[in-house]
Amino acid sequence: MAAIRKSMVAEEAGAAGEADDAVGLATRHLVQPWPYAGSAGAEARTLIGEGDGIYITDAMGKRLIDGPAGMWCTNVGHRREELARVMYDQSMQLSYNTPWYTMNAPSAQLAQRIAGHAPGDLSHVFFTTGGSTAVETALRFMQFYNNVKGRPDKKLILSRGGAYHGSTYLSASLNGRPRSHDWMDGLDAIAVKLTAPDPFRRPQGMSIEAFGDFLVEEFRDTVARIGAERIGAFIGEPVQASGGVIVPPDNYLKRIREICRVNDILFIADEVVTAFGRLGSIFASGEVFGLDPDMITFAKGVTSGYFPLGGVVISERLLEGLRRSNHPDALFGHGLTYTSHPVGCAVALKNLDLLEGGVLAHAREVAPYFQARLKSLEELPLVGEVRGMGLMACVECVADRESKNPLELDTNVGERIDRHCQELGLLVRPLINMCVMSPPLVITRGQIDTLVDILREGISRTMEELR
Ligand code: PLP
Repeated sequence: MAAIRKSMVAEEAGAAGEADDAVGLATRHLVQPWPYAGSAGAEARTLIGEGDGIYITDAMGKRLIDGPAGMWCTNVGHRREELARVMYDQSMQLSYNTPWYTMNAPSAQLAQRIAGHAPGDLSHVFFTTGGSTAVETALRFMQFYNNVKGRPDKKLILSRGGAYHGSTYLSASLNGRPRSHDWMDGLDAIAVKLTAPDPFRRPQGMSIEAFGDFLVEEFRDTVARIGAERIGAFIGEPVQASGGVIVPPDNYLKRIREICRVNDILFIADEVVTAFGRLGSIFASGEVFGLDPDMITFAKGVTSGYFPLGGVVISERLLEGLRRSNHPDALFGHGLTYTSHPVGCAVALKNLDLLEGGVLAHAREVAPYFQARLKSLEELPLVGEVRGMGLMACVECVADRESKNPLELDTNVGERIDRHCQELGLLVRPLINMCVMSPPLVITRGQIDTLVDILREGISRTMEELR
């Protein structure tokens, strides 16, 4: 597949000096994320020049719908003048201050606004540079908390198959997707993996309800087997995003939350994708799933991708527990140069204004239409299931619908669909045998129609190709 893209881009690049320059420079000097060892990567990537609303434009001037919203993040859409202006204004006023001795107003205001949206007793925010560092912070906080409380053995973390929590050492160790671990080392001793809560892949003959019971029993048994005194936290995405938009069985998360509460295991909701509008609310944990986590991690949509920012919302209970400990000198030795960055926090404040001022309501309004239109793709024989929630969805392709047998890996079906869709004006996020759709939240019904029509045609062309 890379070879096809390479020749395509190289041919096009020949006609446009600028594209040639950027792709050539990248090939010689840029290390791309997620490259395969055998390829430098740049030749296989579409060079993007501009963004506007739900669209991005490639270096040849071809306009594409930004199907994955960047990486689940360009929530209010590209080229929002309000956000650009706030970045300029804040940079001219105060571009940076050390978080070691000083503080700034935008971070305090943003913490207050975010805490106001958070469920339960979540009241304080620690800002990071993105999602991995948010997850890392939550886990280091859990370690600190248990050390201060005199429970140094209570550190193991429960996570799940299909999970993606980041690319730093600790966060990546929790990932349940095989590709995160292949060819890499992980801190296997700290993470225990449970079954992915994927109803589509439940054992044959089992109802979804029984599958939910099975997952809860597995959780309970694991806690009993290992011992609650050794388990510090459970971390889970309310809807697993990069695992293929996996919506768990009803009430399963609530039941896990209760087991955690009873066993004094911290429940961390990783809302790096689901927060800031993707499921129609600022946080999905409380409003959508009725959960009151001990910590929530967020990133991406908090600035709609305009600035790298993330964070952890922490429960008042935990902080109070620390205050009442017998270690008044215990230092949470954790911080980042860009913690509470004034420009990032100012952008996030304006982004929140946009979300609260209409984007959230719009996302809630169009989401059922988005899901229903995509669901119609299940008519296509290659499609095993279309699933999703809010404005995130996944089309999973199978070799055989009856048995749900996965396609051979080298079929590259996701990449094939993406290539056809790009020709037709839609960027897709391919995930092996799946295509993820999570467009900017400002997408209209008409644009949803176009997106689905192109995806249908892309899948049809792929079926032709595989025949
Ligand atoms: N957590 C989840 C649920 C994610 O989807 C991601 C990234 O996609 C991360 C954490 C890591 O975030 P980042 O890439 O900003 O470090």
